[in-house]
Amino acid sequence: MARVAIVTGGTRGIGAAISKALKAAGYSVAANYAGNDQAAAEFTAETGIPTYKWSVADYDACAAGIARVEADLGPIEVLVNNAGITRDAMFHRMTPQQWKEVIDTNLTGVFNMTHPLWTGMRDRKFGRIITISSINGQKGQAGQANYSAAKAGDLGFTKALAQEGARAGITVNAICPGYIATEMVMAVPEKVRDSIIAQIPVGRLGEVEEIARCVVFLASDDAGFITGSTISANGGQLFV
Ligand code: NDP
Repeated sequence: MARVAIVTGGTRGIGAAISKALKAAGYSVAANYAGNDQAAAEFTAETGIPTYKWSVADYDACAAGIARVEADLGPIEVLVNNAGITRDAMFHRMTPQQWKEVIDTNLTGVFNMTHPLWTGMRDRKFGRIITISSINGQKGQAGQANYSAAKAGDLGFTKALAQEGARAGITVNAICPGYIATEMVMAVPEKVRDSIIAQIPVGRLGEVEEIARCVVFLASDDAGFITGSTISANGGQLFV
């Protein structure tokens, strides 16, 4: 039987590419999203992948949503923590609200999704937890103290949990994308985009499918010896 995978924020951008790639690799996929019903409906119409709406920032909603997905598809064996937001501001202007929203979604959201799944994965002696962090969690970025802190926190979470999951057949890994050609990046003025590309040694933005392929590999049985690791997919912009 196909393994069941859930992708948070799996209806748009990088997450949509991950959902599609997992489906193409034979997984039974559920895509979670927060509020954009139209994008979710279009995504399901295009891919046939069912979508489930809740906020990863809400623990009880995650537990209830996961129960709904498992009732529909079966036990979840692959969790991709992809949902993420930005609320950028230079620190002297950053509000407590901007700080809290980003931490609640990008860091606590990872706890909220992983925790309800952990016991089942331990009992079944198999699990794959893959979290999409960011190059800006590795190097820091001005205007993103909230985002960089959350994404760096995701890497600490990954390394700690990998140690707990190892004996139970659960691998826990992270991917740090650099600049990817998502709608957000493509919407910035061409001049700004050119200045971003100038910082990337391979001379181009990454494609969403390039991140999705990393996820498919980490989710596979072939990647069972890889845990606690971070894949940096950034075109050579940062070596860590
Ligand atoms: P998008 O903004 O294109 O899509 C975000 C997805 O996450 C949407 O499906 C959105 O749902 C969902 N989402 C947002 N908040 C929540 C929430 N509270 N609960 C559930 N779902 C939520 O994001 P990207 O594809 O650009 O980014 C995906 C991930 O990759 C993020 O974690 C981001 O930080 C990371 N990343 C992105 C980079 C890039 O260049 N784009 C670079 C490095 C890292 P809805 O459609 O309902 O809004």
